[in-house]
Amino acid sequence: MGLSDILKKKQCFKLVCGAGNEDAQEVEKLVAVYAKAGANYFDLSAREDVVLAAQRGLDRVIPKNKRKNYFLNVSVGISGDPHVRKALIITEKCKACGLCAKACLQTAIAQTTGEYVVVKKRCIGCGACEKICTAAKAVTFVTENVDLKVLLPPLIKFGLSSLELHAVTDDEEGAYAQWNIMNDVFDGVLSLCLDRSHLGDKQLIARIKRFIADRPEFSTIIQADGAPMSGGDDRYNTTLQALATADIVQKARLPVWVLTSGGTNSKTARMAKMFEITAHGVAIGSFARKIIKTYIGRDDFLKNDRAFNGALRIAKQLVDKTLKYL
Ligand code: SF4
Ligand code: SF4
Repeated sequence: MGLSDILKKKQCFKLVCGAGNEDAQEVEKLVAVYAKAGANYFDLSAREDVVLAAQRGLDRVIPKNKRKNYFLNVSVGISGDPHVRKALIITEKCKACGLCAKACLQTAIAQTTGEYVVVKKRCIGCGACEKICTAAKAVTFVTENVDLKVLLPPLIKFGLSSLELHAVTDDEEGAYAQWNIMNDVFDGVLSLCLDRSHLGDKQLIARIKRFIADRPEFSTIIQADGAPMSGGDDRYNTTLQALATADIVQKARLPVWVLTSGGTNSKTARMAKMFEITAHGVAIGSFARKIIKTYIGRDDFLKNDRAFNGALRIAKQLVDKTLKYL
């Protein structure tokens, strides 16, 4: 079974480890527990150690003869896209109040010798720290410039099923240039992650049409993003924008697969069904990670059956509920 088959059958649960999540140990734990729970597609940071960690996670729980039913994706993003930026605390402005550290679901803010600093490899760019630092305004963001022609070919050799471009930007030509590089270096499925924060509905569809023009039918996933990395809460409202984006894509009747993401949670698939929105799969990140956070945080997680099974029970409820309604 290939990636297209699970999309065609609407049986795709994509666990988003976080495009910016460079914590390989955490990725191994997340992939192991969610693969065991029934997730079949995994979104990873574009780093060799992270891809290898995900493969180790699969090796732990999936027999070799079933591995062909599990798919890995790496994500890259264009400069400024929230998925690939990293927070940075400006020391001179910081009042050391600690509010940002409490707000960070990734536990990516540490206090060292009295100063608060961002642990880069754990930061996923969600912006929660910036939102809470209203008085001092001490949080800014940086995006590392990467050359996709150099970055991607060595990673593709690890047997990736797809590559994803986060293109939450109004820089149409910049996004198109990155997309074309991905087209050139990879002949498998490409995924384009878009939301409507920078694009009107017509522009959104025009961008998709332009980007898929030279690609075979149904070789592209449109990841219909709502409010990126806002799904920490399990509310209908959080998931609303992702479904609205999916609805617009669906109504354009394009030869693409549609996945919802960005604010997705346990309500997403059910709500899509209620509103007659076709989604071939659901990608869940913040919410999926948050509900097993206390277990995953343990150093002995992969060796402690009680901790692993505790997380597994919670993860399985989310995966089962999602696949049931798709
Ligand atoms: S919330 Fe702002 S002022 Fe407070 S510790 Fe964080 S960066 Fe510093
Ligand atoms: S709150 Fe979000 S953006 Fe800020 S440090 Fe944590 S993960 Fe990074």
